[in-house]
Amino acid sequence: MAMNKVQFQAGLSLPAFTAVWFEAQCRKSLFSARWPEGFRCPACAGSAHSTFKRDGQIYYQCTDCRHQTTLLAGTMFEAPSCRSPSGSLRCTC
Ligand SMILES: [Zn+2]
Repeated sequence: MAMNKVQFQAGLSLPAFTAVWFEAQCRKSLFSARWPEGFRCPACAGSAHSTFKRDGQIYYQCTDCRHQTTLLAGTMFEAPSCRSPSGSLRCTC
């Protein structure tokens, strides 16, 4: 009998997958609520940006003024008590 490669591939446990999926959905919802027209720099209102990851956080850097911000900056999730131990978003929605 042939081995089903999909069945035996390394992956996440169901709780780990659910946590990753749930956080991704919360991040997507927060992004849409914060920037409904797409990213806007809080310093100059520019929309061109790049992203990079540092310390588990995704940073948005404005191409025009080089201002760096995160999705959580200025929100209730910015407080360390509202974050998961990994520093990523902890959502209770
Ligand atoms: Zn800017």
